[in-house]
Amino acid sequence: MKKMHVKKGDTVAVISGAERGKKGKVLLTNPTEGRVLVEGINMVTRHVRPRGATEKGGRMEKEGWMFASNVMPVCPHCKKVTRRGFKILENGTKQRVCKKCGKKLES
Ligand SMILES: [Zn+2]
Repeated sequence: MKKMHVKKGDTVAVISGAERGKKGKVLLTNPTEGRVLVEGINMVTRHVRPRGATEKGGRMEKEGWMFASNVMPVCPHCKKVTRRGFKILENGTKQRVCKKCGKKLES
């Protein structure tokens, strides 16, 4: 499994393709394929068959998997599109930090 530069819950910005500049939250990651699902980005229309009484058929918009390399994390502190850095804490654990402002890269 490849290490990903973004993880679930991160706010990311699209850096290439038709939706460049859009921002959203990472809903799911697939490290095996290096892909991510980002809220409101790369929407695809699915045709859904009615299943039972509660589920109606029709068209449904859903996020589609996209390459993680097409997104960059957005820092929750300085709001800039940034790169992820690492800081080693005193207890030896690594913390993901913003390369621009140095603050913890978690929302
Ligand atoms: Zn920052």
